[in-house]
Amino acid sequence: MKVFKFGGASVKDAIGVKNILKVLKNEGFENTLIVISAMGKMTNAFEKIVTAYCQKSKDLNQHINYTKNYHLTITTELFNSKKHLIDTEIETLFGHLSGFLITNKSTDYNYIYDQIVGFGELLSTKIISFYLNENNIPNNWIDVRDFIKTDANYRDAKVDWEKTITTIQRLDKNKLFITQGFLGQSSNKNTTTLGREGSDYSAAIFAYCLNAQSLTIWKDVEGVLNADPRYFENTQLLEQISYNEAIEMAFYGASVIHPKTLKPLENKNIPLYVRSFDNLKNVGTTVSKGHYLVPEVSCFILKQQQILVSISAKDFSFMVESNLSDIFKVLHTFKLKVNLIQNSALSFSVCIEDKFNNFTQFLNEISLNYTITYFENVVLYTIRHATENAIKKIEQKGETLLKQSTQGTVQLVIK
Ligand code: ASP
Ligand code: MG
Repeated sequence: MKVFKFGGASVKDAIGVKNILKVLKNEGFENTLIVISAMGKMTNAFEKIVTAYCQKSKDLNQHINYTKNYHLTITTELFNSKKHLIDTEIETLFGHLSGFLITNKSTDYNYIYDQIVGFGELLSTKIISFYLNENNIPNNWIDVRDFIKTDANYRDAKVDWEKTITTIQRLDKNKLFITQGFLGQSSNKNTTTLGREGSDYSAAIFAYCLNAQSLTIWKDVEGVLNADPRYFENTQLLEQISYNEAIEMAFYGASVIHPKTLKPLENKNIPLYVRSFDNLKNVGTTVSKGHYLVPEVSCFILKQQQILVSISAKDFSFMVESNLSDIFKVLHTFKLKVNLIQNSALSFSVCIEDKFNNFTQFLNEISLNYTITYFENVVLYTIRHATENAIKKIEQKGETLLKQSTQGTVQLVIK
């Protein structure tokens, strides 16, 4: 079996959906499972619904109508007949959303978030499944929540592999399936999400459980490049890279592949193809086994909106194991993601990401015992296979607050 994944950018409008048809006809669609994200920027739009709902804002309905109209505009363009079954499907899904908003009693933001944002994926897959069915690509829509089982850590749920493997392996491998990325289900039957941009990971989970022959991620870029073209000029395509290289790049923030995607593929030696949905003739990038598959060019990766924190003891004592373990405990409690650490005798520096808006609470707690200085909104640059020239290029971008070098990888925190 093959697994395909289409992200939001590939299905942001009717033209995108029609293009999926083209891709499938070109590539073949036998024994394929297709994972699809929410259309365009719909996850952001659903996040606005979450915020409006939690803040009891009068704009709630306006946000709901925006997402509804977005999908209806696409279906009007895709389906000719005036009254189409897909309209009923869309009404039903928005009915479920309203039902949740009315009956919900919980005040847990993360739980509410997952119950709401998942509608983006449910809508996109329904629409695309209908469209392909009508255009001679018979397929089966499946609800991913029946297959990917997780814990109840909302917004960052962890996969229960045992249950997930058992349910996915029940799928008939001779069919074409369409399902949602990003979502899962906890044991108490609530919707969970795997973290923003998690659909690549969903696709890798299916590839792993199905022992797929390959996973192809269809993108609006040519493949994995040596730098993000939004921030760098003269980028180059990396045609072949190893899992290790890809994992390192994704870990350091290369947004082309979600970092969790690689492990399941590597574990079963399933090749990953990253290809352009616009240029089907192009080869794209192959990620596979082999330490010789390293790029010959420097790769630049950046993580924005970082906080660089310097922590030292109030009584001038050394920063050693006991206080470091204290600090890590507090970082962990507030779900702060650590992207870089550096230690000296009297101060410990850490570059972190505050995905869950807990930094103030962290500061309050840590300041009880330590002296803190910090810079918000800094950028962490990572250069793999760094050269002197490559480092200079980054140092020109601003003031270097911290620099660290390990085995050809250089990291700089720039203000
Ligand atoms: N739709 C989700 C998001 O935008 C998941 C994904 O696109 O991978 O984060
Ligand atoms: Mg998306």
